[in-house]
Amino acid sequence: MSPETILVTGGAGYIGSVVSAQLLERGYRVVIVDNFCHGHRAAIPAPSIVEELDIQDTERLAQVMRQYQVGAVMHFAAFIEVGESMRQPGRYFSNNTAGALSVLQAMVQAQVERFVFSSTAAVYGNPERTPITEEMELRPTNAYGESKLLVERMLPWFERIHGLRTARLRYFNASGNTPQRGEDHHPETHLIPLIMEAALGQRPQIAIYGEDYPTPDGTCIRDYVHVCDLASAHLLALEKLRECGNLLYNLGSGQGYSVRQVIEAVRQVSGRDFKVVSQERRPGDPAVLVASSAKIRRELGWKPRFESIEEIVASAWEWKVRHPQGYAAP
Ligand code: UDP
Repeated sequence: MSPETILVTGGAGYIGSVVSAQLLERGYRVVIVDNFCHGHRAAIPAPSIVEELDIQDTERLAQVMRQYQVGAVMHFAAFIEVGESMRQPGRYFSNNTAGALSVLQAMVQAQVERFVFSSTAAVYGNPERTPITEEMELRPTNAYGESKLLVERMLPWFERIHGLRTARLRYFNASGNTPQRGEDHHPETHLIPLIMEAALGQRPQIAIYGEDYPTPDGTCIRDYVHVCDLASAHLLALEKLRECGNLLYNLGSGQGYSVRQVIEAVRQVSGRDFKVVSQERRPGDPAVLVASSAKIRRELGWKPRFESIEEIVASAWEWKVRHPQGYAAP
């Protein structure tokens, strides 16, 4: 039997490339769709097939799905910066919301049934309590979260009317690197890579966005989950979609770390010191986001392999030291 083909949008990106690598290891054929506005060709695992196109091009997308007889779509292509989404919300609704709609329409045209969607903890906003479970109220505090929530809300309609089977995976803070692939965004806005740049002397300091949150040390608390563990959850969801649709899972470690604790972890792992300054809050940031991932552990048997922030940071640091300029390095 020939291997099943999975179309991965954003497969040249941070999470999409690691998922693609795991799919290939499991014997799937992988078709990566990326417009390379942020993706890196060097991140793409061999022997993926690469189609350079924008997800808003519904017709070509449907054509690609037919050409390769795609069995399922994993949709990662999206903008991901909370701060930017609060300055340019239209970019987020266009690329993230309309973009996902285009992918869904192409799937209907090409009769592809299974869809795994990268959603986000940002759909919860400031949750009523932690750890956050899937049925809690959804009140995004930033346009990024809203742009993803709008997609989540479309999915049950595509299930009901077009017979799609969908999985919504709400990531908490994706982090860590694999020996082959790492986080390399331009501009970089995420906490761990930024702290590592400060540790390497590539930037003069790290700024803490707000120290007056209602948390023990006043800085925001997040749940950091390793990119390899995120990837393994995607493969489990993909398999489960063979049986049933309408899957919804949080993906986090269940442990919260404050910005100050993450800075300390980088100090320890790297053995380097660097300057830390205080800045005002970043608009749209909830104080605490910590997941309960009990549902996916129970229902799909998901077991994250990376448990502590130190392990996650160590994996990130290892790649960063070998690739100080990211994928651009010669
Ligand atoms: N953060 C910070 N300084 C930075 C970048 C991020 O204090 O230079 C904080 C940010 O306000 C948030 C946490 O670190 O509370 C994680 O931010 P990130 O952008 O990595 O992920 P997000 O939680 O927005 O998905």
